[in-house]
Amino acid sequence: MSHAKTCRQCGAEVALTRLPRAQGEDSGVRVEIEGMPAYLCARGHKRFLTPDFPLHLIEKLLNADGTFSAPHANKRGLIRKRYHCPGCGGDMPAESGRHASARHRIEFSDSATVDVALTLPLYRCARCEHDVLHPRQEVQRALMDAAASAFRSANVPPG
Ligand SMILES: [Zn+2]
Ligand SMILES: [Zn+2]
Repeated sequence: MSHAKTCRQCGAEVALTRLPRAQGEDSGVRVEIEGMPAYLCARGHKRFLTPDFPLHLIEKLLNADGTFSAPHANKRGLIRKRYHCPGCGGDMPAESGRHASARHRIEFSDSATVDVALTLPLYRCARCEHDVLHPRQEVQRALMDAAASAFRSANVPPG
């Protein structure tokens, strides 16, 4: 693996830096990334540590302990989606009530760490009063979209 020493856009020398907080949101899922490592040149051009850094960060976040700490609702209906409680089968409300917030410290092999604050919408079953998440696939997709928009807001060109 080659180490980047010069900026691909202007040829100036680059230094490793930590980006300020970048955040993104999708379907009520919010991702805040703090201290993302990136290369920065004297003219302000930014570059990810590696081209696949965003993908690795998302994968590690999806697989981190406690990312999905609440049970997932079941979904029925293709055209009009309806969500059901995994515990009692009751109907879930359309609007989320509380949010589950957690901080994750994601570690990379080169000992770089990134702190991610993750907020997921919870839905409370009216019958058994348990808080549940939307189906895993939907939460994962929203998390990926929220992270992608956080990466965009950090203004680092892809590649
Ligand atoms: Zn540059
Ligand atoms: Zn229930």
